[in-house]
Amino acid sequence: MRRAATFAVLLALAAALASVASASPSLREEAAEAPPRPRVRRARSRSVGYPWAGRLERGVRLEESRHLRLVPEYAARGRHFGAWQLVQLLERAALRVHQRVPGARLSVGELSGERGGHVDGHRSHQNGRDVDVGFYMTDARGRPHDAFAFAEFGADGVGLGPNRGLRFDDARNWELVARLVADGDARVQHVFVSNALRARLLREGRARRAPASVLDRAARVMSQPRHHPHRNHFHVRVYCAPHERPACRDRAPFHEWYPGRPPLEGS
Ligand SMILES: [Zn+2]
Repeated sequence: MRRAATFAVLLALAAALASVASASPSLREEAAEAPPRPRVRRARSRSVGYPWAGRLERGVRLEESRHLRLVPEYAARGRHFGAWQLVQLLERAALRVHQRVPGARLSVGELSGERGGHVDGHRSHQNGRDVDVGFYMTDARGRPHDAFAFAEFGADGVGLGPNRGLRFDDARNWELVARLVADGDARVQHVFVSNALRARLLREGRARRAPASVLDRAARVMSQPRHHPHRNHFHVRVYCAPHERPACRDRAPFHEWYPGRPPLEGS
């Protein structure tokens, strides 16, 4: 009797182990470290107008976590509200980088004000679809470094000016870009970054044998704007969600991953 019961327990245990073993490693990893469940109110934010002439309704506040921090220089200003799609994108990307190259947190600058509209120091950032993200960086010995502010980097990946002791973290920054452009829910339109750092990142992606589709998207999404070289942060913009159009408005470029049909020119 006793022996039969023990045998049954062992059988059940073996079955449980087999089912865990059959799950893919990445699925198991994500189950163990799933990001906090989105609160219901997140689904209710609304982006109105353009990123440079718009507002945000019921903006969602980005919170710090084990994988994500607010850059101290901007932390007190309270411009950490975004469309829920953007906030979740940042959380997913931070978690992913942590899983693939552990040891550092994603450093986030400013998103939008709680109700959007003009934000000092930015031309866009008005309707919850823009965010400034600090680069992952290390000290000269390769240890992750969380800086008080954004730091500029040159083509050689070495910090400029007072930040000569810092290094651009190619591996983590590439993982971040790869995760952003591959996201299926929030579709990224722009990642502004200097030409020199863009070239470093694509080189890193090729060295890591990233899928051609991810490299292609990254190459097309990353660009250096004419008036602001973006040597010290990424500026990321996501497209409007289809159900928020036409109140939420996008302008070209409309890449193939634009969700839904692009609006007619001038509409
Ligand atoms: Zn920006």
